[in-house]
Amino acid sequence: MKRVHNFSAGPATLPASVLEKAAKELVNYRDKGVSLLEMSHRSPEYTEINEQATSRLKQLLGADDDWEVLFLQGGASTQFMVVAHNFLNNSRTANYIDTGVWSSKAIKEANLFGNVYTSFSGKDGDYGHIPSNDELNFANDAVYTHFTSNNTIFGTQFQTEPDGGGAPLVCDASSDFLSRPLDMDKYGLIYAGAQKNLGPAGVTVVLVRNSFLEKQRGEAIPTILNYKTHIQKLFNTPPVFAVYMVNYVLEWIQEKGGLNAFVKINNEKADLLYGEIDKDDFYRGTVEKAARSKMNVTFRLDSEDMEKAFLSEAAKEDLVALKGHRSVGGIRASIYNACELNSVKALVDFMQKFRAKNA
Ligand SMILES: *Cc1c(COP(=O)(O)O)cnc(C)c1O
Repeated sequence: MKRVHNFSAGPATLPASVLEKAAKELVNYRDKGVSLLEMSHRSPEYTEINEQATSRLKQLLGADDDWEVLFLQGGASTQFMVVAHNFLNNSRTANYIDTGVWSSKAIKEANLFGNVYTSFSGKDGDYGHIPSNDELNFANDAVYTHFTSNNTIFGTQFQTEPDGGGAPLVCDASSDFLSRPLDMDKYGLIYAGAQKNLGPAGVTVVLVRNSFLEKQRGEAIPTILNYKTHIQKLFNTPPVFAVYMVNYVLEWIQEKGGLNAFVKINNEKADLLYGEIDKDDFYRGTVEKAARSKMNVTFRLDSEDMEKAFLSEAAKEDLVALKGHRSVGGIRASIYNACELNSVKALVDFMQKFRAKNA
């Protein structure tokens, strides 16, 4: 089976071994004579998948019993609203660190429910900077401090958790979730759309602490938007097949040695690529070096015509989905967990050839 080098930002490349396993099981799931796609979400088969995925996630992150794992629908974009709806009202404030498009969208939704205190905004610097702790300001008595750990569009990433100013962190970790260990004690809630680093589109993982939920606002919350609903029981039909795929990706992460193993390999991939960009001025990184993402590597060439040529010649060598986000242009190589070192090496080889021909 031919597989190209896929640098898609999302839905993104999945481990080939996971796809093959799912393909084998698709029509007849474990000799039940039906596909998992045709089976009740209350069946013992799905219950096992749900429990396995939950325990694997908690194990990989070192999450203690205070933590709950939810597999929800609606994408990270829905969580922008749900987080705020559960914790804010007119007399409550949350800190938001604005480091890009996704942070801004989260702020827009939070403003519908309560008071947003902007701890930092990178907008004037074209979102090429990630603030250090001494650049952050905080409201008194904030319920939480929200940040976007990796900015998929601009190619920046918090190298470590920011200070929360005394409030628990709430994180949109959609595009670097499980690329490295997290300091779980600092967080109240973490959410991530699966389609970047975790599995297929259709499921959003939410990790939330019971102790953080004690700070839920007092007013009524629509049943399906209340986190407690989903903790108490499997309330409605979950995205069964997406969770099944996530479960296999989690197994694959465990087999590869867990999150510390991925820190090593993700560093190696990012170093290779940024090393090539930094060789001279032919390729130019778009963000401050200290802010660079290990997941989404963004760079530009001399002109848009040159970038077009780069993309079309790359595609001829099976290097695909390298076009930058439509809002910023340029080139973006997304090198999530499932993007193999081999693919990054092939891209670097191509970059060298393209430079030699066009410099
Ligand atoms: C892709 C992305 C989103 C949006 O996710 P949806 O699942 O499409 O709602 C939000 N935040 C970040 C950081 C992302 O990368």
